[in-house]
Amino acid sequence: DQDPRIAKISSAIRIIPDFPKPGIMFQDITTLLLDTKAFKDTIDLFVERYRDQNISVVAGVEARGFIFGPPIALAIGAKFVPMRKPKKLPEEYSLEYGTDKIEMHVGAVQPGERALVIDDLIATGGTLCAAIKLLERVGVNVVECACVIELPELKGREKLGGKSLFILVEGE
Ligand code: AMP
Repeated sequence: DQDPRIAKISSAIRIIPDFPKPGIMFQDITTLLLDTKAFKDTIDLFVERYRDQNISVVAGVEARGFIFGPPIALAIGAKFVPMRKPKKLPEEYSLEYGTDKIEMHVGAVQPGERALVIDDLIATGGTLCAAIKLLERVGVNVVECACVIELPELKGREKLGGKSLFILVEGE
């Protein structure tokens, strides 16, 4: 049975058809942030899953992973590490995956740390794949990826190299 909080989270996400291009159903999480109950439930569902997993790093992908990641990190006693889009930091590791590029501060994580990677949404999986590869390149163990929304038709899961993905709702 589905957790009763999920349906409310799903209905708090606004769908904007044909944005930013024709044919794209943009999943706008800013309306979820305005619904104080649904936003708290979203964070709580992640915290309930990750609180006892010895996770030391929550790595949030710019920009909307910066919204969901920090409250989860605080609640589970992990540090928050921003995974940034290019050209925003003076020092970085970087990785190119197709047209995706993700950067992280040198020294933010240590080999052997256990990380959760968080973003608002997985579409093709390219963004999460780049984040996983970057963390693994510096010796971090990526325990799981988590998103509020999955677009299952795009089969992004298959791009994660067998890495486990936890999601709350499916979009189209
Ligand atoms: P992808 O790398 O293809 O999995 O794309 C995921 C990234 O793009 C996430 O950071 C999302 O915020 C953003 N994104 C892709 N498609 C959508 C969509 N339909 N609605 C909202 N955000 C999207």
